[in-house]
Amino acid sequence: MSEQKDPQNLGVDSKEGGNVIPFPQATETNAAVSKTLEESKAEGAKTLKDYLDDLEANIGNPNKAEKLKKLKTVIISLGKFIKINPENVLLVPLPEDKVGENQGDLVAADPVLLKQDDLSVLRHTLAHEETHLAEDLDHEGLTELRTMSITGDIAMDYQIEVENTMQVTALLDEDKDKAILRAIELYSNEKYDELFEEFAEKYTEKYPEKVTKNSDAALNTFQLAFPELHVSSEGEFEVDEGEVEEYAQAA
Ligand SMILES: [Zn+2]
Repeated sequence: MSEQKDPQNLGVDSKEGGNVIPFPQATETNAAVSKTLEESKAEGAKTLKDYLDDLEANIGNPNKAEKLKKLKTVIISLGKFIKINPENVLLVPLPEDKVGENQGDLVAADPVLLKQDDLSVLRHTLAHEETHLAEDLDHEGLTELRTMSITGDIAMDYQIEVENTMQVTALLDEDKDKAILRAIELYSNEKYDELFEEFAEKYTEKYPEKVTKNSDAALNTFQLAFPELHVSSEGEFEVDEGEVEEYAQAA
């Protein structure tokens, strides 16, 4: 049930204007992968909308009526936080233990998730993939933390990333959800330095003795959460393309 590390999601959202830190451009691998969902859609892959329409057309069947109600509940409950467009959710079998992915404005969910009585994995997967898109977010720890806020679930994947990222977000605001949203806002706008400074200030306040012992204590914690960032020769955080590559290949 693992939603893998979305290689296609790394490096594809370079942003325009105002940002000092350039985000790496899509690699050939990313471009090739990002064609796949588009192609699937063009080739007529079934969407969540088709699935809902089919249930609606067979509402006389109690099993289908129940499934329709459950699915609508999932979409409505997620919709309080994040927009789900069933037309853009493709139901395509995904490789190995992967159940979800996202590319461009499309999300894929493995149809196996719809076969289950309990739709909580589908709900979690949709929340995770749609968060990547809605927040323009290429960080698994932050994406999964936001998913956990939305669904009330525990981490279903990326437990280590979640654990490491939480060490940073937990200090940003006493309100856990606000803290995660603040980190996402800064990260997805590539304001990595601002994110580090806000964190380091709170860290120094909370753990003065650790900072006295090791002046890099805050930096080390930050780097565990954001290993893809490195400090440039100008002393600013930027995405290390080598790290992104390695990360993408690991998936
Ligand atoms: Zn992801």
